[in-house]
Amino acid sequence: MKQAMVKHPPLPRQYGEELLVMERGEGCHLFDCVGNRYLDMGSGIAVNALGYGREDLAEIAAKQMKRLVHASNLFATEPQLELAQKMVNSPAPGHAGFEAVHFGNSGAEANETAMKYARLYAWRKNKPHKIRLLAFEGAFHGRTLGALSLTANPAYKKPFGPLVPGVEILPFGDVEALTTAMDQDVAGVIVEPIQGEGGLNMVSRDFARALNALCQEHDALLIADEVQTGMGRCGSLFASGLVGLEPDLICLAKPLAGGLPLSAVLIPPKVNALLAPGDHATTFGGGPVTTAVASAVWDIISVPSFLAEVRRKGDILESLLAQELEQRGLEGEIRGAGLLRGIRLKGTPFDGPWCSKIVQEARNNGLIILKTGADVLRLAPPLVMDEASLKEGVALLFQTIDQNAKTTA
Ligand code: PLP
Repeated sequence: MKQAMVKHPPLPRQYGEELLVMERGEGCHLFDCVGNRYLDMGSGIAVNALGYGREDLAEIAAKQMKRLVHASNLFATEPQLELAQKMVNSPAPGHAGFEAVHFGNSGAEANETAMKYARLYAWRKNKPHKIRLLAFEGAFHGRTLGALSLTANPAYKKPFGPLVPGVEILPFGDVEALTTAMDQDVAGVIVEPIQGEGGLNMVSRDFARALNALCQEHDALLIADEVQTGMGRCGSLFASGLVGLEPDLICLAKPLAGGLPLSAVLIPPKVNALLAPGDHATTFGGGPVTTAVASAVWDIISVPSFLAEVRRKGDILESLLAQELEQRGLEGEIRGAGLLRGIRLKGTPFDGPWCSKIVQEARNNGLIILKTGADVLRLAPPLVMDEASLKEGVALLFQTIDQNAKTTA
């Protein structure tokens, strides 16, 4: 396949010296600028939940662009109010409920906001010493300095220190370490129900129970980073419920506005009661165009039958992966939930560099996939992908694996 590559683009070198140029999307396919078609099992890193070329969403955005494109947070707008109301009305996982939504522009910004709320909550309760923020190994919470402080991977952080003081990274899933670390000075604990970038490690029931109980005991805010797992990706509106987490704050972003930049932090009454004018703000967050589109996305994804369909297709994807592994006598671990799935193949040469090679070479076979953690191949297809395309995607993935198993053997 002749690919449309741009060499040395006028983009920061952090994105690479050579990039594939994408031109358009249609359904669950992407097309590059020389017309090659790719089945997309990456969704723009778990963003394009409803696929591409949606006339319904494009029409809403265009209409809203003409009516009112921006008003600032000095005012409310109807689309913003409508979306926030839908979000606070949604059934919260094991929790008394949410009262307000802070809109932002990215996942990192949502997590920054949650960090600030955790410290502000303590501050307003006259506990200025209560500043500790706990996060976990394998976590990815974003690249801005605050969110980066919560992100575990040292390679992402090293050149940028000193980062935010008061942040500690604990082992993921270790109830004892968490119990030892928790005290009255902890303002917040942030966790992903399933670690999106860290290898799709899932919070265990025991760990969730400990997180719920210890945060409650010490009046620390439990923050669920559902930037990747939320909005139906794992087969329910929030993955927190799947694993038994009862978060105080939920952070959402990626799929929220059908590919437009929008994030949200869901806020419970006990936190909202302590917020005051001027505490936090953002210029573009929750603008009328993004929220109008997000409101329509919410109406599609939050319907129980849509979520049940994601679970059904997630089960199909899991069994397709298991079948292919079995047919080849390969030992592999299938991770994740719903339509966020990963496989980790055991033994040489199935290491990290090999996974990166598979991600690259899959493109030559017309397939977009992702990598997560050190050595896990990640599939995050649009939630609307049908069974036939899931089958095609898994077949293309294993075709790529077979080709590369031969060349590396
Ligand atoms: N949190 C999680 C779980 C993520 O997966 C990501 C991005 O991949 C982020 C936060 C950061 O989001 P953004 O890149 O929109 O800042």
